[in-house]
Amino acid sequence: MSETFSVIARDGAARAGVLRTAHGEVPTPAFMPVGTKGTVKSVDPDELRALGAGIVLGNAYHLHFRPGAELIAELGGLHAFMGWDGPILTDSGGFQVFSLRDTLLEVDDDGVTFRSVYDGAPERFTPELAARVQERLGSDVAMCLDICLPAGADRSELEEAVRCTTLWAQQQRDLPRAPGQLRFAITQGGLDGELRRRSSEELVALGFDGYAIGGLSVGEHREPMFDATTEAAAFLPEEKPRYFMGIGDPEGVLEVISRGVDMFDCVLPTRTARTGSALTREGRLNLRNARFARDQRPLEEGCPCPACTRFSRAYVRHLVNQQEILGLRLLSLHNLRFLLDLVAAARRAIERGEFLSWKEEALEGAKGAM
Ligand SMILES: [Zn+2]
Repeated sequence: MSETFSVIARDGAARAGVLRTAHGEVPTPAFMPVGTKGTVKSVDPDELRALGAGIVLGNAYHLHFRPGAELIAELGGLHAFMGWDGPILTDSGGFQVFSLRDTLLEVDDDGVTFRSVYDGAPERFTPELAARVQERLGSDVAMCLDICLPAGADRSELEEAVRCTTLWAQQQRDLPRAPGQLRFAITQGGLDGELRRRSSEELVALGFDGYAIGGLSVGEHREPMFDATTEAAAFLPEEKPRYFMGIGDPEGVLEVISRGVDMFDCVLPTRTARTGSALTREGRLNLRNARFARDQRPLEEGCPCPACTRFSRAYVRHLVNQQEILGLRLLSLHNLRFLLDLVAAARRAIERGEFLSWKEEALEGAKGAM
């Protein structure tokens, strides 16, 4: 069997590669649109494919509670259930448990107890459950259960999160997987270099198919976060894919790519769409603004997405202001296309060995898009 991951070109720390999964190959760097509840909000899987998405993300937390992983398994697994035959990465549910902090009840060496956001009932996630839910969903990449703390957590909390995350990864590592399913561990440590190193070394020693950088992009300032990313990526093996969890603004994705990250996910393109905004090379456009009332230009000149090839800013503005579903859909399609195209262009620039100069140019205009 060929390698799970190959790097095909490097430019500085940035890399272009291929991740091989049970449902096909994913060129990296790869942006993964988020299908929280088994759908990238308002976007059909055929549309996702046409936009250039190579892999999508599903949330184990939400799918476990609604409609349930067993039910999805009974219906042929998540690919069949959501009508997407390409690669799927599922998170473990840990991020939701720890980011909804007022629902958290207790953490121990075997798992975490919390109240479900659906009905408030006490629930428990363990490494065993995280493995089983993802095995039942049949995703191509499964994630280990981890403890992700918010920015500002003190050192003893971070240290405890690192300790538990390693312990849980050890418990989850050899549990049953779906056919061909890869398993990634998640390093923690916040902005603390020493703890990040410890977390990385412990998880790498256990041996996983890939590694995620977790516990960043959780509310800290951007510069220290990027510095920590440089460090966190360097602690990980060259030959394994690196996944930065939760970044999706144009500057952020290019910065993490330049630091050696191969994969990332974010709800930003679709969430931004729901607020009535379009990502463009010149920055973010708020379509609710009156200045677009008579603007006959597309959202972005030259963009091949279904919104830009057919409709004017004036029309999209009208739809958004009238809360028409099509407005939200058009903005989602455009924003996803914008980000997927940006990442594809980054990959080509890495292959040409011109990533840094290309990135500076790309960010010139996008500065206002943050
Ligand atoms: Zn467009």
